[in-house]
This record gives sequence, structure tokens and C-alpha cells, in this order.
Amino acid sequence: MEKLQAFKQLISTPKRVVIVTHFKPDADALGSSLGLSAFLSKKGHSISVITPSNYPDFLAWMPGNETVLALSNEKPEVEQKALELIAAADMVFCLDFSNLSRINSLGDAIRKSNAIKVLIDHHLEPENFADYVQWSTASASTAGLIFELIEELGEKDLIDKTVATCLYAGLMTDTGSFKHNNTRHREFEIASELVYRGANPHEVAREIYDTNTLERLRLTGYVLSQKLVVLPDYNTAYMMLSQEELKSFGAQTGDTEGLVNYGLSIKDVKLSVLMYDRKEEIKLSFRSLGDFSVNAMARKYFEGGGHRNASGGSSKLSLEDTLKKFLSILPEYKTQLNKD
Ligand code: 5GP
Ligand code: MN
Repeated sequence: MEKLQAFKQLISTPKRVVIVTHFKPDADALGSSLGLSAFLSKKGHSISVITPSNYPDFLAWMPGNETVLALSNEKPEVEQKALELIAAADMVFCLDFSNLSRINSLGDAIRKSNAIKVLIDHHLEPENFADYVQWSTASASTAGLIFELIEELGEKDLIDKTVATCLYAGLMTDTGSFKHNNTRHREFEIASELVYRGANPHEVAREIYDTNTLERLRLTGYVLSQKLVVLPDYNTAYMMLSQEELKSFGAQTGDTEGLVNYGLSIKDVKLSVLMYDRKEEIKLSFRSLGDFSVNAMARKYFEGGGHRNASGGSSKLSLEDTLKKFLSILPEYKTQLNKD
């Protein structure tokens, strides 16, 4: 981090800290937030972790989960409380996202607040709003960046089992269990340190990957047998799920997570897309292999972004029209998708 000494000075006395992450947080978003929270509370700060929405049950086991303030449409009082906390904060940490517009009303509140803002993230093209920044697109996870910040501060000894477990969860999932092409030697070094300090790889993996509901597995089976479409001319796979389909499988938040990866597991497929109806909008998940940038595609056409090989976006069109739009832009990418 630039200005590390000033940052160190800042966190050497107790502060009112708010940690915010992105909408529909994943394990890296929540794990880095709870890991940082546990670290900072050991240093005597008072911390509030706020998520702009709910998140899947397979993340709710994380130590500190019970302290999270999760916004929801059904509980407007939570948003009020979150806005008050942001207004009163000395420091606001924004984790695993880099664009305040991604967190709606909380983003406006953060922009307006006098708190010192800290951005810790690994997504492409960050917005320039923070006073302190720990940002690297080379890092596979925000959790890894939190580890590196703690290391730079010379405070690795404060990484106990709680901190290590939360950070390990983020590192494990954002690397796809250490197999995505963002997995460097460094990720293994950090994983090794976290395991040394108490993270249990087997337990974390079981909590996240092996706590499926039967409905979720049935939904996966349905998608693979009925909904997965391959377009050989474009080396592309896509899947589409309507509200009715999701409802008929009793789908919960997080049940669609990971589906998009099945498309990429097909030989020769370079681009995989999942589109599903989230009621308020159509959500798109993009995954790609090699040089093909889904970040560019999501930014240009679906108000989204993320990483080169993993991005998300949204559409206000109907599900069918979203598919039409997607199919209509594919020819623009045909040459790229057919490159070796
Ligand atoms: P997922 O497809 O798993 O939801 O997201 C893949 C990656 O893209 C994640 O790193 C996520 O943070 C990012 N992402 C997902 N949705 C959006 C979006 O609507 N806008 C932006 N800028 N990034 C997104
Ligand atoms: Mn992440």
C-alpha cells in the first residue's frame, strides 16, 4: 500500500470502522470482510460489516457471520442503520468491488461521508474515490490482498484461526480451488501461511462446496440436461433460467453460483454465459478461457465488469430479449472466439 506509514498510524488508535462489500457477496467478499473485521477488532477498533444484500447459506458458517448487517427489501430499518453507521464512521473499507455505483444507496452515502476511505480490491478499472488503496489485478482474491496488507503492517501474528479461516475461504473460492489461471505461486504461499495459522482446508471446502440442498443439486441436474446450449461456431455455451424455473426448484440465493463453470468445462468452449431472472433485473455471469475478455463484453453490453475471465452484468430487458441481445453481439467476437 502507498502511504503505508500514514495508514499504520491511522489504525494505531481505535476508530469507528465500517466494512462494506458488494451486492450478493461471494466467499471472497464476505471472507475478506470478516477476516479484516476480526483483525481490526483485535487492534481495538469497533467494526460494522455491511452487505448490500443477503448472501447464500453456504457462507453463513463463517466466524463473525452473526455480526453482519445485511440489507434486504423486507427490512428497510437495516438500510437506515447502515446509512447511520456510514455517516458516523471514521473509516470505511470497501472490499472486493471498486465501483461505488455497484452498491446503490450505500455508495452514495460513502461518497458523501467524511470518513477516510480505503479500497481493497482486485477487479479491473477501479473508480478513484479512496484515500488508501490496496489494489492489484494480479491478486486472485481480495482475501489475499488483506493478508498482504497485514503482512506489510508487520502484524501477521494477529492472524488467528478466525482471520485465517475467513481469508482462506476467499482465496480458495476465487481461485476455483487453486485451479483458475489467476492461481500463482503467491496464492499457494498465502494459503500455506493461512493453514499454518489455523485455517482447515478440508473444513472450509466442505462448508462451502458440500452443504448443498437436494433442490440445488436437482436444479443443477436440470440445467445440465435441459438448459445448456452449445454454439460450436462460436465456441460458446449458454444457459438461461426463468423465474418460474427457479421457483419450481425452490432456488435460494447462491443456488445458481457455479453453474456457469459447467459450460467452460466442455471441450473447445471458450465462453460460457448464464442468464437468469432475478426479478428486478436479468443477471448475467460470464466466464472465459485465455485472452478472451468477458470484462470487455460485460462492460460494453451489460453494464457490468469484473475480471478478464470472470465477469458479471445485468440487463433490464426480458430474459428472451437478453438472450437475443447476447446472440446478436456474438458475431462481433467470432474471430476472437475461434482463435487457438
Ligand atoms: P459472478 O458471475 O460470479 O456473479 O461474478 C464474476 C465476477 O464479476 C466477480 O468478480 C464479480 O465481483 C464481478 N461482477 C459480477 N456482477 C457484476 C456487475 O454487475 N458489475 C461489475 N462491475 N462486476 C460484476
Ligand atoms: Mn474477489
